[in-house]
Amino acid sequence: MKMQRGVIEHFEARSVFRGLLQGADFANRVGGSCIYGCPRCGHRIRFRWRSFYQAAGSSPFKRNVRRILDDLTPQLDARNCLDFHCPTCQAATRIVYSVTDSGGSACHFDLYAALVGEGKARR
Ligand SMILES: [Zn+2]
Repeated sequence: MKMQRGVIEHFEARSVFRGLLQGADFANRVGGSCIYGCPRCGHRIRFRWRSFYQAAGSSPFKRNVRRILDDLTPQLDARNCLDFHCPTCQAATRIVYSVTDSGGSACHFDLYAALVGEGKARR
């Protein structure tokens, strides 16, 4: 499957997630859990806090896909990614988030955006 840069779209976290927390000094923070709705097919996935805690560094994507996504991922400090294929439409999806260590054993995950490739056409 050939993937071109043009088919990957950037979605703000709050346009594709439900249940994120907003506060005075943070935005789009994962509380206990949140619901992601695939912008290609509407498939919903519940993510829990530990989903992000466990996500670091692993990706199911081939290297060429990962490289395209890496180019589109903002290179700010402490940006992390959770990569997966939508179970319904197979769209390559990357959730970009930041990790804030609040001391002790707790850390916070603030979602930034979703980068979503093209899903398989379904009728
Ligand atoms: Zn989908």
